[in-house]
Amino acid sequence: MKKKSQKLRLFLPALLAVLAVGVIVALIFSKQRTQSISEPVASPIAELNIKDGCTRTTRLENDPQYDRALSLIQQRIDDNEKWCDKYCETGDYETKLRFHHFPASLTNCIKIVEEKIGGGAEGYFTFHSEDIKPNYFPITVDSSYSLSDDTLTALLITHEMTHVQQYLDTLNSKDNLSCRDKEVEAFVSQIDFYTKLSNEEISSVVLKMNEENDDKHPQVAMLKTMIDINRDGTCPLFTDDECSQKNLRSKLFQLISDNPSYQHQCEL
Ligand SMILES: [Zn+2]
Repeated sequence: MKKKSQKLRLFLPALLAVLAVGVIVALIFSKQRTQSISEPVASPIAELNIKDGCTRTTRLENDPQYDRALSLIQQRIDDNEKWCDKYCETGDYETKLRFHHFPASLTNCIKIVEEKIGGGAEGYFTFHSEDIKPNYFPITVDSSYSLSDDTLTALLITHEMTHVQQYLDTLNSKDNLSCRDKEVEAFVSQIDFYTKLSNEEISSVVLKMNEENDDKHPQVAMLKTMIDINRDGTCPLFTDDECSQKNLRSKLFQLISDNPSYQHQCEL
């Protein structure tokens, strides 16, 4: 049986262009990617061996810049897990403080493929791709990340790894998210990872966020957008996590729905 592949891409510049003007407008993408999202396919038999997720204990070989980013993701999530094992005493803290988008060990099975993507996409992961193998999940990253700040590369990879986990959940019949909700969760995963960074790493991102220029790195701009949503006054600051989570998700859902690139990806 043919399975439809689903390519989930991160379109930050396009999303941010919409955000920057504060209103939702239709954007025309002169370089819209045209390749089909219905190919390639993988046989269900091959996927039977894939659905166990990542059982490797060391990382796959990657270019140093991506290996460093993957190592950072692994270390920060691992440290947070250990901290949470000690201090997340109630169910409420578990939900709030534990990183629940994917396990740290998934970093061992990520292969970063660098490509000049264009069309406003920063990176993508294709569901049911024939390039996926047991313990091998290829994520494509735009070649502009070759010389990026490791923390910002880690933020992009975190987004795509969330899609890898969603794919695994699909294979294990645990995922019933819509295309747009998959994107919402991938963005939420990024801000959740950001909060797990060290103080020095956060300070460095905050400095970039506060720079007086309109040409912020897409990852920095997107984080700022999510932080601004969290502070938009809809919910009491820091005290009502349920309200804040709901507010962030509903505003992200709206932004994704109004964005032409995501409309195309999600076949809206
Ligand atoms: Zn995405």
